[in-house]
Amino acid sequence: MRALKIIARGQLRIDDVPIPSIAPDEVLIKVAGAGLCHSDLHVMHAPTLLRYGMTLGHETAGFVTEMGADVTGFAEGDPVLVCLVWACGECRPCLEGRDNVCVNNGGRLRPPPAPGLGPDGGMADYIVSKARYLEPLGDLDPVIAGPLGDAALTPMHAINGARHRLGPDATVVAIGIGGLGHMGLQILKATTDARVIAIDSSPQRLAAATALGADIVIPSGDDAAQAILDLTGGYGADAIFDFVGLQATIDIAGNAIAPDGALRLVGLGGGKLSMGISMQPLPWGVDVRRSYGGTRADQRQVLDLAAAGTIGVDAVRYSLDDGLQAFADLEAGVVAGRAILVP
Ligand code: NAD
Ligand code: ZN
Ligand code: ZN
Repeated sequence: MRALKIIARGQLRIDDVPIPSIAPDEVLIKVAGAGLCHSDLHVMHAPTLLRYGMTLGHETAGFVTEMGADVTGFAEGDPVLVCLVWACGECRPCLEGRDNVCVNNGGRLRPPPAPGLGPDGGMADYIVSKARYLEPLGDLDPVIAGPLGDAALTPMHAINGARHRLGPDATVVAIGIGGLGHMGLQILKATTDARVIAIDSSPQRLAAATALGADIVIPSGDDAAQAILDLTGGYGADAIFDFVGLQATIDIAGNAIAPDGALRLVGLGGGKLSMGISMQPLPWGVDVRRSYGGTRADQRQVLDLAAAGTIGVDAVRYSLDDGLQAFADLEAGVVAGRAILVP
């Protein structure tokens, strides 16, 4: 089968490899589509990686083709989503519903494994997963459902953790309307009555934000924070979701958040938030979360919204054979929504 692998820093290659075999608790899935996340670019350029030769792809959906002897509850041909978070399900955080920060399979600075970020991922003809990391897709199209497992899950988790600041009179800002942001924007519109401001550096992405229901769009840049302050009587936004994480966007967030506001840093662009105790720019009461992925409960909420047709992935399809082109396009910032590799 074909598998898109990272073979060295900055080097990807589509290899011909054997179809993997499965353990008794595993399922072999024929991939229908695998989303391409900006994190894949971070992985590609990371100075070191735990495992070169890994198949990328952590946003995968497909069809059950073979089941291990112990697997129950699935049948051949079932459409399934492969979950991002491969948690133990038994440790204290898992039992508290915080499986995205599982202690047994992860650690203090390490999230639980995710397919395509450790184990082999879904940019291939087939992927293997334990049965318990699969969610049934029902009537959702598995070709474009993969991003529900990260591009929608991750914003859902960040938003769920800020709901106390998302009342009907709230002003909320989403920065970066790419793969994650275009789902986050839809989730905000679908699940809150807050006024939603979208910020991006790309005029095309701002137009997309308007089409997806943003109440106000603001071009990214030095004036963006002041524009948010002007729209909120100088008080700031009640919640800001930074889906980019560059210094420029973290600065906008820090300079435009309201007192007691919820600041959610999701993007991994490499910026820093400066925060001191006495002399510092953040208003009193701001709470900051470095939000990772999402829980299984967040995942089910995402699937319910998608099944109801309330949210959907703006998919840009590439054949798996054109996978390297898709990476180049994402890096060039010309993907309008989420790129999906279709085997
Ligand atoms: P993407 O490339 O699809 O989208 C990025 C968007 O940001 C684009 O619309 C781009 O125009 C916009 N942008 C770029 N520079 C900007 C600026 N200065 N100001 C405003 N907008 C700007 O990326 P994605 O797949 O949505 O991922 C976004 C980030 O989130 C990445 O850093 C990724 O690694 C990270 N991520 C984090 C988690 C997590 O669990 N914390 C999960 C998935 C992805
Ligand atoms: Zn991702
Ligand atoms: Zn656990």
